[in-house]
Amino acid sequence: MALQAETQAIVTQFDFSDENVNKAVREFLRQMDEGLEKDGTSLSQIPTYVTAVPNGTEQGLYMAVDLGGTNFRVCSIKLNGDGTFNLTANKVPIPKELMVAKTASELFAFLALQIRNFLEEHHGDQFEQHVRRRPTMTAPEGYKDEHVFRMGFTFSFPVQQSGINKGTLIRWTKGFDIPDAVGKDVCALLQEEIDKLHLPVKVAALVNDTVGTLMARSYSSPGKQGAVLGAIFGTGTNGAYVEKLSKLKKPLSGDYDNSTGEMVINTEWGSFDNQLNVLPTTPWDIALDKQTPNPGLQMYEKRISGMFLGEILRLATLDLIKNPKVSFFKDENSASNDWRTTTYIDKSSSLYQEWGLDTSIMSVAAIDESPTLSALRQLLESTLQVHMPAYEDALAFKKIAAAIGRRAARLSAVAIAAIVLQTGKLSDPAHDNEPIDIGVDGSLVEHYPYFTDMIYEALRAVDGIGEQGAKRIRIGIASDGSGVGAALIALVAAGME
Ligand code: ADP
Repeated sequence: MALQAETQAIVTQFDFSDENVNKAVREFLRQMDEGLEKDGTSLSQIPTYVTAVPNGTEQGLYMAVDLGGTNFRVCSIKLNGDGTFNLTANKVPIPKELMVAKTASELFAFLALQIRNFLEEHHGDQFEQHVRRRPTMTAPEGYKDEHVFRMGFTFSFPVQQSGINKGTLIRWTKGFDIPDAVGKDVCALLQEEIDKLHLPVKVAALVNDTVGTLMARSYSSPGKQGAVLGAIFGTGTNGAYVEKLSKLKKPLSGDYDNSTGEMVINTEWGSFDNQLNVLPTTPWDIALDKQTPNPGLQMYEKRISGMFLGEILRLATLDLIKNPKVSFFKDENSASNDWRTTTYIDKSSSLYQEWGLDTSIMSVAAIDESPTLSALRQLLESTLQVHMPAYEDALAFKKIAAAIGRRAARLSAVAIAAIVLQTGKLSDPAHDNEPIDIGVDGSLVEHYPYFTDMIYEALRAVDGIGEQGAKRIRIGIASDGSGVGAALIALVAAGME
């Protein structure tokens, strides 16, 4: 009984009521507007210079590369013009020494070489004709334009974008450190190395993965009206949406095509409400934030994304283990504990190590609805060294995990709701009853059970959306934003040349 009550006391701290969802939506809208007016605000609202989204009829052969962390991916994408595409891809690990190379050119030369290898392997005809037989020609200017591949470059590091294929690196993250590249245009760096190898490839677009997701969903969504939002719920969380140019008040430094009157904006919403005006905060959120290298920043992301949820769960679980009122994952040193017959947690358990719990365990906890919770108990034993976990203990763990997952989904709904309201489409008779398409990607939304259902539940409670509005919102997985999405941005960019 005590365990039930103490578990419930933890669970209720993760409640995020309908009223608080509404409050947060209003604040999100306010912070969006603020970010459209000036720099240095909570939501960066970065203009991407992408001014059109596809409708599924696009055709052609494009390339895409993705430098995001441990691997470099090269692909070619054949857009069939009917919402479908064929993708060919190679993936190569980035050698560790190149992540900390002395010069930018060492890394980018390696990337260009992978593009060359890809062309040789998968597009042999073009390779023979344009690279091997004409090795002295300088690409891409030396080629007939129709022979030059347009390529989208997904580069998942902070950049200051100043055009559709121009952006300077602000700083490296994720273990990369090549000071020489900071402040330089990453598209130009890549193009330079591509040209040295005489490849018929033009870096046509610099791509953020959220924009890629938006484009991928727009291309494949039935109805051809284009998506309004692309959102990632994976290691991190972020979203890009289609905004009216008239609302974008801060100055734009580069050229763009303003014929559509719209531009895709990368919100960088992970940093929504760093001031904690509306975000729910538990003792475990505070403890987690202190452990991170960037305390006080990315506060929204720290309550939503895969990188953090497992750690929140670990911290809350640890408190329950330490709680003298209950016997939970009983410690091996506890006097009444006989390890042969009762539950105990080994001292070496990853539950005792910071960041020791992967968020994927939350999916297992949620999926296991068996009367004995056998799958979850097995996992607690094999991955967390909880020997012979009791049913009641597994149930307590499941409930805490569910509360953290539910809060993450309801918080995710805040951004989605605010952006849907910002488009004005729900109340615009010109879009009467049209579906409002949203592309999503990332392990959390793909694999965590009921994540999307819980988002919808919160959306229905939002003023201005309600039952009717929520029915029109169509959330769909749009995987491969860095492949097909990047190719589509290269296509849009080519149209602007
Ligand atoms: P990325 O965002 O880096 O492209 P993913 O979308 O695969 O990659 O997200 C990885 C994150 O998702 C990790 O933090 C991982 O802990 C978490 N994750 C992986 N599998 C699951 C799952 N089944 N349920 C919930 N979270 C998961």
